[in-house]
Amino acid sequence: MDASLGKKLDYIIIGAGSAGCVVAARLSENPDVEVLLLEAGGSDAHSDVEDPVKWPRLLRSERAWQYETAPLRHCNNRVDRVPRGKMLGGCHSLNANIWARGHRSDFDGWEEQGCRGWGWSDVLRLYRKSEDWNGVASELRGVGGPLYVAPPTDPHPLATAFVESSDVVGVPRLEDHNGPEMEGAGFANLTIKNGQRHSVVNAYLRSAMNRPNLTVITHAETSRLLIEGTRCVGVEYEHEGTLKSVRAECEIILATGVIGSPCILMRSGIGPEDQLKRLGIDVVFDSPGVGQNLHDHPMIGGINYECKVPMGAPHHNGVEASMWWRSKAGLIGPDIQALLLEFPYATPALADRLPSSNCYTIAPLVARPASRGSMTLSSANFKDSPIIDVNFMASDSDVEVMLAAIEMCRNMGASDAFAPFRKREVMPGKLNRREMIEFIRMSTTTCFHPVGTCKMGVDRDAVVDPELRVRGIKGLRVADASIMPTITCGNTNAPAVMIGEKAAEMIVGN
Ligand SMILES: Cc1cc2nc3c(=O)[nH]c(=O)nc-3n(C[C@H](O)[C@H](O)[C@H](O)COP(=O)(O)OP(=O)(O)OC[C@H]3O[C@@H](n4cnc5c(N)ncnc54)[C@H](O)[C@@H]3O)c2cc1C
Repeated sequence: MDASLGKKLDYIIIGAGSAGCVVAARLSENPDVEVLLLEAGGSDAHSDVEDPVKWPRLLRSERAWQYETAPLRHCNNRVDRVPRGKMLGGCHSLNANIWARGHRSDFDGWEEQGCRGWGWSDVLRLYRKSEDWNGVASELRGVGGPLYVAPPTDPHPLATAFVESSDVVGVPRLEDHNGPEMEGAGFANLTIKNGQRHSVVNAYLRSAMNRPNLTVITHAETSRLLIEGTRCVGVEYEHEGTLKSVRAECEIILATGVIGSPCILMRSGIGPEDQLKRLGIDVVFDSPGVGQNLHDHPMIGGINYECKVPMGAPHHNGVEASMWWRSKAGLIGPDIQALLLEFPYATPALADRLPSSNCYTIAPLVARPASRGSMTLSSANFKDSPIIDVNFMASDSDVEVMLAAIEMCRNMGASDAFAPFRKREVMPGKLNRREMIEFIRMSTTTCFHPVGTCKMGVDRDAVVDPELRVRGIKGLRVADASIMPTITCGNTNAPAVMIGEKAAEMIVGN
């Protein structure tokens, strides 16, 4: 019996984000188990969350963790921001709602690295389980699942121009980016229903919260795990100004995301021994991979155009069209993504070049980055932000892919399809190779997709095994985007939801 809650708990899930909400909802489907979900943030009830076009306004609000990167050594030591959702729904409550499952080779690659059960055919079943696709059910698309997914109903004319412009670079048009092929240009799949954000809260958690066996506590920030010997038995968290602890009979599931999960592990004594000792943290298990392998999709902010006709307001999420393609022949999948942003977008270092309004952006990104960074604790205090060294452009190959991506995107931007809109290319303009590399170093920013800090695998650097169990500790799993050994080449929300579905199945199966 847990004294503070007045009941015996079977499972505690920490973090009500994209994956955590799915795990909580699925586990509590069994009325015989007691489930607790702890979330550091508060409710998602806010008009800026509901209206899918307002997501940029949330990034500096109280509903986001306000992290920053360490100086980007290969990007002129600029500091980039790392906003993450801090409310029910986590990042799915403030993201751009694009639903992209990733390329089959992403998951087959995980399986080849030893992650059995994570190949494309395994994860496709889970994607179909989660989806309520606004179309016909098929072997590729799910209908009747919790999450509504649909293409934009009324795309902005600029999004249409982007899709049409792909002809000039020889990229095919796609009906459905989550269909038989991912490579091509088309309208994004969106988790927007009746004009409103359809997050994991709407899809999974809200109805589950009516169940008597699911307790959700918001404004409950976990400080550390309670570990006895080699078993995780509970959680210490701060709520209403006091530290409380709670225990679970079966398992604790850490779903606090790419920053939260490795931080909580390290504060609990699970991490690289030398780092923990330096901070005075008692080492429970030396796990050198915790916090390592940090990577993200580096994105250019941006290739900008002044528009010669009034653009009007962005439609849907303001990011309705997307393209995946290869920078060179012979790759197993796409290594470039480009997005059409129906608004101006530039890093602070270049923002003063932008017109104040009537400006659109083509934003290319490296979909399979080679650069790797790390995340380390700055202190043992859970209130202190960690050191987030995302290390964009550390690898020359990322620079080369980005050069190819920029060239493609500038050709698309200069095409006839954009002629009714294009007044001038604001930046970068025609530059030589050296100048373009300098532009990359000034304009590279996050696409908000960091992953990898609690890598799944079978080697010594793996933090969790293919069943998501934390190596060296019993009764503890990680289930969120931090477990990706390598980033998927699409946006990372759908994979996080899939990871939640897979974790729940593995836990129930035990
Ligand atoms: C601005 C933005 C736009 C994006 N746009 C898209 C998009 O359009 N499409 C897409 O596919 N992806 C997008 N992403 C990325 C995608 O949303 C994330 O990869 C995904 O949501 C990550 O899910 P997660 O479960 O790993 O973590 P999260 O969703 O981040 O959930 C982690 C949860 O844990 C909580 N937490 C953290 N620390 C603690 C603690 N100590 N105690 C208790 N709770 C804690 C957090 O508050 C949060 O609720 C975007 C991300 C951002 C930030």
